[in-house]
Amino acid sequence: VFAHIARGPEDPILGVTVAYNKDPSPVKLNLGVGAYRTEEGKPLVLNVVRKAEHMLVNDRSRVKEYLPIVGLADFNKLSAKLIFGADSPVIRENRITTVQCLSGTGSLRVGGEFLAKHYHQRTIYIPLPTWGNHPKVFTLAGLSVKTYRYYDPATRGLNFQGLMEDLGSAPSGAIILLHACAHNPTGVDPTPQQWEQIRRLMRSKALMPFFDSAYQGFASGSLDEDAQPVRMFAADGGELLVAQSYAKNMGLYGERVGALSIVCKDADVAGRVESQLKLVIRPMYSNPPIHGASIVAAILKDGNLYNEWTIELKAMADRIISMRKQLFDALHARGTPGDWSHIIKQIGMFTFTGLNSEQVAFMTREYHIYMTSDGRISMAGLSSKTVPHLADAIHAAVTR
Ligand code: PMP
Repeated sequence: VFAHIARGPEDPILGVTVAYNKDPSPVKLNLGVGAYRTEEGKPLVLNVVRKAEHMLVNDRSRVKEYLPIVGLADFNKLSAKLIFGADSPVIRENRITTVQCLSGTGSLRVGGEFLAKHYHQRTIYIPLPTWGNHPKVFTLAGLSVKTYRYYDPATRGLNFQGLMEDLGSAPSGAIILLHACAHNPTGVDPTPQQWEQIRRLMRSKALMPFFDSAYQGFASGSLDEDAQPVRMFAADGGELLVAQSYAKNMGLYGERVGALSIVCKDADVAGRVESQLKLVIRPMYSNPPIHGASIVAAILKDGNLYNEWTIELKAMADRIISMRKQLFDALHARGTPGDWSHIIKQIGMFTFTGLNSEQVAFMTREYHIYMTSDGRISMAGLSSKTVPHLADAIHAAVTR
């Protein structure tokens, strides 16, 4: 009965790693997936995570019982505090519900299904381009996906005018997906002034903000600074959703730990919204896993561990910034034609190089460098040792 089934395509992002793994070349380089690597090219488990895990393992009072449908209560409170700020009015007024979900993706999916079921507008606008999984997650959640202009290939920066025009002509009440910081794949974020204009426009048209916060702490190196756009919207008294992921900023990728928060008009509404979130989650996966959320809660609630975390996080962000500088310098030294200043201007884990799919294919074929076909490279996958090889490949690709 399954014989007729055609083979499905590889995921465009995760498929890059599949191809990389098959390549026997000793110089191969995987710049596809957005996972942090050390200067030695190794995955990193933060020291503070190891410490927290050690504490958890040695605590004999801990058991493996099911968590509630909405997850670990401490984790949820601390996650809201992390994104909205300890003194946030939405927390003080208790008009927020936060539920633990399966990392960023799961939080987006639960939020999407909640909106499809209970919100009066089913259309979500996502930036063009955006993380490749967004349209699939929201379509399967039951929303109808449209795009708004975001990136300008000519300037390799933000198409602010196009963005404002498209949000301005979206139907009243439409949902707008916003990357909280370190936009993936472009590395291009609005300035604080532009965020303020976006906020005013969106509130004047009752557009519903749905923030995707997958890189808090990775853009500027400061957790508070990277949360500013979300806090700006939270401060004006309006509603919003935010999906948080701890994959990147705590390096907890495979633990699948994240949170969905919905800011409501008052505490009573928030309580009812939470009751409906439980009805979305229960038949989907019943309740979330306990281990990753316990690690995050242990770190967020202990002053010393929290400080240690911020230092390790800043070190990751700084290493990425230094890779940007090194790659830029290496292209400059080779006299590679073109303006490569966007490599140092763009923010977060990725550089949107501007290389086209043909150039990408050439670099993979001739230089064993793996990346998504849109020319996005993960700066976190680079090291001082591999920058020259990448610069050689880019130089050859653009001068061919
Ligand atoms: N949103 C964006 C913009 C991302 O880049 C990612 C990870 N690549 C995610 C969400 C979700 O990641 P995860 O489910 O691993 O938290």
